[in-house]
Order: sequence, then C-alpha cells, then structure tokens
Amino acid sequence: MFYRDPGHTYHVAEWDAFPWLLHGFGTRHCDLPERFAHLATVKQIHSAECVAAEGRRGVLGEGDALVENAPGSVIAVKTADCVPILLVDERRRAVAAVHAGWRGTAARIVEHAVEKMHRTFGTEPGDLHAAIGPAIGACCYEVGPEVREQFGGQGRGRLDLTAHNALQLENCGVTRSRIHASNLCTMCGGEEFHSFRRDREAAGRMYSYVGVK
Ligand SMILES: [Zn+2]
Repeated sequence: MFYRDPGHTYHVAEWDAFPWLLHGFGTRHCDLPERFAHLATVKQIHSAECVAAEGRRGVLGEGDALVENAPGSVIAVKTADCVPILLVDERRRAVAAVHAGWRGTAARIVEHAVEKMHRTFGTEPGDLHAAIGPAIGACCYEVGPEVREQFGGQGRGRLDLTAHNALQLENCGVTRSRIHASNLCTMCGGEEFHSFRRDREAAGRMYSYVGVK
C-alpha cells in the first residue's frame, strides 16, 4: 500500500518495517537532490543496462538501473510517465532502482536488474520486495502498432507498463504479494506529477530513490 508523506513523497507502507531502508517516489513538489548529498544516478538511455553503484556518487555513466548495498548510499532514477521500480533484498540489505519506459520494459530491464542483484550480491528473487511507482497508466497510454507488437499486441491500443513489469517480476521469481504497485497515473492523476505526454518539453522529472542507511 502506498501513502504520501507531508513532503509530497510516496512510500510503500509495508517497507516502513525495514529500519535500514530509505526509499521514496518523488512528485513535482519535492526536490530530492537537495535532500540527498550522496545520490548516485545514471544517464538514462532506455536500455536494459544495469550499473553497480559501489558506493560512488554522481552520474555513473549510461544505463537505466542501479544496484547498491553500501551503507550511506542512495541510488535514484528520474521519470515523467516511464515506470520507476524499486527492488529491496530484505536478507542481504541490497537495493535497486530501475527506469522502465516501453523500450526498457520490452528489453525486460527489471529482469536484468534482478539478475544483476543476483550476480553482484547473491540476491535470490524469493527474498525480493518490489515497488512500482507512479507512471502513465493504461487509461492514458495509447500507443501505435510498432510499440504494441513488442508486447505481443496488434494495431493501435493501450499499453499497461505497470502490469508488464509486475508480470516480469513474477516470472523471475518475485512473490506476487511482495510486488506493490501504486497504480497512480502520472498523466490523469493530477498536477502533483510530471507527465511528458501531457506537458511535453515543459515536463520536469521526478526522482525515485532507494538506499541503505
Ligand atoms: Zn491516466
């Protein structure tokens, strides 16, 4: 279950049980880089590339996901309609932040991130918790045939990126009851979100972050 704090950031209520964890899904009303001096990000390129942050700060090259387990570190992705996904390995105290637009979702970036956590930290999918943050919903996301084909569809129609990412997480072994989806639509969900489809070049980006205290 998601809730919004007084600082206009969304959190997963179930994750408040992890005292070692920092996490949140920002809105247009909060400026995360100022809150975290030690943020690590990547130059996002709509790929399936996952970067191990290893305690580093700043922009760590090109990619669309980061993984980390160093205490005191916070990793983040930026979105405005694309899907932000946070992964938490409860047992090994490791985390991942993933940016999944339609290209990244078609390239199964969230599965690559789970695999990267496995290789880097020994993470087992059964120990993972996942949160899928505010993104453009099927209510507003109409795409052409060239995009729907990537997801087994035909012709123009709606695409539910949150559902596809949830399915990918389940397929690689994450327990369904541990996959939390906000189901908040950035486009029709109100002014608190940036939406690229709605605001075009004027749209800002929202930070979704996760870290180990
Ligand atoms: Zn919508």
